[in-house]
Amino acid sequence: MQRIAVFPGSFDPITRGHESVIKRALPLFDRLIVAVGENGEKKSFFSLETRLKWLNLIFGNDPGIRVTTYSGLTIDFCRAENATFILRGLRTSADFEFERGIGQMNKMMYPDIETVFLLCEPEYAALSSSIVRDIIRNGGDVRQFVPVGVTF
Ligand code: ADP
Repeated sequence: MQRIAVFPGSFDPITRGHESVIKRALPLFDRLIVAVGENGEKKSFFSLETRLKWLNLIFGNDPGIRVTTYSGLTIDFCRAENATFILRGLRTSADFEFERGIGQMNKMMYPDIETVFLLCEPEYAALSSSIVRDIIRNGGDVRQFVPVGVTF
């Protein structure tokens, strides 16, 4: 059976932290689906098209990665894709508490799913899309925080 993982996120915008998790996870799975979650209640800063464009630019040529979008429950998307792993990144204990709740609820709803966590690299521990958005809103330079090729 193929080991298929979904890396769900908002990627609003993609950061070097996300990029690092995705690259480091590649050897662990046969296929990785990077999936932008469409959440009706959560208004994004960048359009879905822009976020997908960046992800495709960075990962589109990698045969092990598919970039796509989904709405609804992440576990339903995983089922539809025959994915039995959800990949998430951990920066802080706050991330851990948040992820533990979601991961354990997902496990109760879909026992075949395993959430796999990768620790973020130390240099990216403070890096978040929300801070990057704040810097952009205020005209700052975010090039060191986003993957090469992502421009605003
Ligand atoms: P969500 O809205 O689902 O949290 P994000 O795009 O903010 O979407 O994050 C997607 C995943 O990437 C989450 O698991 C998050 O913890 C992880 N992540 C975010 N920033 C970093 C980072 N700097 N280093 C490692 N993982 C990160």
